[in-house]
Amino acid sequence: MKKEVVLSGIRPTGFLHLGNYFGAMRNYVRMQDEYDCYFFVANWHSLTTHPDTKELKESVHRVIAENVACGLDPNKVALYVQSDVPEIAELYLYLNMLAYKGELEKTVTFKEKVRLNPDNVNAGLLTYPVLQAADILIHKAVKVPVGKDQEQHLEMARNFAQRFNHRYGNVLPEPQAFNYGGELVKILSLDGNGKMSKSENQMNTLYLADSDELLRKKIMKAKTDQGPTETNSTKPDYIENLFTLMQLVSKPDTYEKFNHDFNASSSGNCIIRYGDMKKQLAEDMVQFIAPIREKAAEIQHNKQLLHSIIEQGAAKARASAKATLQDVRTAIGMNYT
Ligand code: ATP
Ligand code: MG
Repeated sequence: MKKEVVLSGIRPTGFLHLGNYFGAMRNYVRMQDEYDCYFFVANWHSLTTHPDTKELKESVHRVIAENVACGLDPNKVALYVQSDVPEIAELYLYLNMLAYKGELEKTVTFKEKVRLNPDNVNAGLLTYPVLQAADILIHKAVKVPVGKDQEQHLEMARNFAQRFNHRYGNVLPEPQAFNYGGELVKILSLDGNGKMSKSENQMNTLYLADSDELLRKKIMKAKTDQGPTETNSTKPDYIENLFTLMQLVSKPDTYEKFNHDFNASSSGNCIIRYGDMKKQLAEDMVQFIAPIREKAAEIQHNKQLLHSIIEQGAAKARASAKATLQDVRTAIGMNYT
């Protein structure tokens, strides 16, 4: 039986962090045996913010290295760089004819980028969701493991696929966001201000390349408060986030203990000690991240290995992209010989 196709990408805009790991990469690793997987480094997408392209190259290599260090096997999946697959750009062109200015301007991520960088509102930024749809549809992917921040983009990809199919015939399946367990994950930054991110709020984001010292320092500075004053209080989101992180990297008993302490706190008697919780979390985080960091550094320095991973990924991705593009061209009627 033909396996379902999975696709996801990460922009080489900086160092990968725990949000990327738990929102995306952890799923990639679990999916690689069950599905026909395509994972890519979205270097075209990062051009929207005009990065120094020398740094971009290093970031592309780092993203590849970090993905492999997290357990992705380049022999099982297609792990490739977006710009190595020019077929994506052609599909992007066709989909752009089906995307409307009004809907693109309403996209939450677009509005956010406009707010942050009012002097660089380029057309690439506006049509970002269209390129993303092309990334997915070029492999006819149906499952897209992403974090919660990408939900709206997936909905747009479904709309573009529907419009294409409606106009030209049924070629492109509609993709769905995917996470094991159903709920999409969002790891907040440690100050509770937005999500962890490659490009923003870096002192409050935990990176896979952070040193042990830096991890400890960032976690100890994480936002907390006086503690709950009533039994079974609702956790404020920045506290919930610390518990989420603990659930992800600590032993179940450790999580249970602190969760119990939180819920058992009652008026005038706050049991939970956030200082202790953060100390424990910091140690567990170091145990979790250090081996990934070391392995990634090793791969990143092995240029020959990187070269062969990238080449192998491009060949697999292009074979699939070419086949889809052929169907797309035929459906549109773009075959004149
Ligand atoms: P940038 O700040 O440059 O946008 P980013 O950290 O948002 O970087 P992306 O490359 O945009 O990372 O996203 C890669 C994947 O990681 C996507 O699937 C995205 O949903 C997921 N992701 C990013 N941040 C988080 C987060 N804080 N929690 C959960 N998932 C996340
Ligand atoms: Mg992002």
